[in-house]
Amino acid sequence: MNTPTMRIIDLRGKRLTRAEMLAAMPRAEMGTDEATELVQPILDDVKARGAAALRDFEEKFDHVRPEHLRVPAEAMTAALEELDPAVRASIEESVRRSRAVAASQVPEDFHTDLAPGARVAERWIPVQRVGLYVPGGKAVYPSSVIMNAVPAQAAGVESLAIATPPKTADGLPDKTILATCAILGVDEVYAVGGAQAIAMFAYGARGTEPQDGEVLCEPVDKITGPGNIFVATAKRMVSGIVGIDAVAGPTEIAIIADAGANPEYLAADLIGQAEHDELAGSVLITDSEEIATKTQESLNRRVPRTKHAERVATSLTGRQSGIILTDGLGQSIDAANAYAAEHLEIQTADADAVVKRIRNAGAIFRGPYSPVPLGDYMSGSNHVLPTSGTARFAAGLGVHTFMKPVEVIEYDEEGLKALAARINTFAVSEDLPGHGECVLTRFVADPYDKATL
Ligand code: NAD
Repeated sequence: MNTPTMRIIDLRGKRLTRAEMLAAMPRAEMGTDEATELVQPILDDVKARGAAALRDFEEKFDHVRPEHLRVPAEAMTAALEELDPAVRASIEESVRRSRAVAASQVPEDFHTDLAPGARVAERWIPVQRVGLYVPGGKAVYPSSVIMNAVPAQAAGVESLAIATPPKTADGLPDKTILATCAILGVDEVYAVGGAQAIAMFAYGARGTEPQDGEVLCEPVDKITGPGNIFVATAKRMVSGIVGIDAVAGPTEIAIIADAGANPEYLAADLIGQAEHDELAGSVLITDSEEIATKTQESLNRRVPRTKHAERVATSLTGRQSGIILTDGLGQSIDAANAYAAEHLEIQTADADAVVKRIRNAGAIFRGPYSPVPLGDYMSGSNHVLPTSGTARFAAGLGVHTFMKPVEVIEYDEEGLKALAARINTFAVSEDLPGHGECVLTRFVADPYDKATL
């Protein structure tokens, strides 16, 4: 294998505008038009034919025709019984920590008193029914079950369904995924993947086989969870019909490192991210040329020895990856804020000071002992995070994803009367006098008689 040499993006001495800084960041262009063309007929067909279409698409894309699209309870129990005890212990530790963090995220209702008889309250209400997508095409991600289900449960979501592609010859999903669902107490699981799973959640699906019953899957209110380009495109296309968390692109890491960072850690962490996917982005941001060189040397030694060396090398040498050389910590922070990484590691002398200056990141991993895989599996934080620079305006998954704040307007007679004239003036100024009349009706004999106002 050729040495996977990362490209250097040299920002030293450059005073870039915001647009130039954004353009300098290493990111691949995502072509979504082609995926949209492929996904539209899948959405239409599932909407029209329900379970029959789901079975056809599973046969076409996952090469198995699941007898039971909804996983039978016995299969869930069997998966849990067969689960390796060491894996079970890891899953349970992850669940414990995630639950502890999620419990402290639950927002409290509050109210504001503005004047006598004038109160606006805010109630946080859980989304009623949620569809969680758990990817399972190339690799399987039991950790994603935890990351999606735990905050939904902490939010108080009443009805949770999970969809994940079938993996076995008899059309069942991966057993560790089923066992994780069982540990979490989620019993509505579908052996359906890709865009067809998103369609099933958005529109619901009626069964056509006796075992499906009348309704196979009721439509959901919100769909969350990561997935490949077909899943992401389908989510984007159904958003508006249902809520979605985000449209995820390929995963990415950025690391801000100074001269004191350990290049072996840096190289290992860049490889760890690159292992996900040929399109994964791994970006080192450093003001130390020596660290850049040593990290590249470490990559040269490590990549040939790691299991998925080809995939890692493709990802590290792709245009979405690179080493950004800066002229100081300030420019490193500017670059990290422009890149807005899904995962941002801080490997610098005063990591806390740097954390305070980060504006854009999906999650921040502070210091040499908080590497990204800790967050992938077990830190208690969530690993479903905004990608492709969307961390500029979006947050990762959390309890808030599964709740809606609803304002409750609580004015009494005194509170409304004090504002009646002002509301009427406002309404008339917008040429909506009927609005003013609603209020005046409550206080004057004839709201249409200007003389009485
Ligand atoms: P997936 O479950 O997202 O997709 C597999 C499905 O794609 C299959 O079930 C199939 O129905 C459909 N499909 C495959 N080929 C198709 C085609 N030609 N046309 C239409 N549909 C087709 O699994 P995956 O492919 O392994 O992708 C998982 C993605 O999720 C990866 O990019 C991974 O990095 C990402 N991921 C992200 C996170 C996160 O937290 N951000 C976590 C885990 C995984």
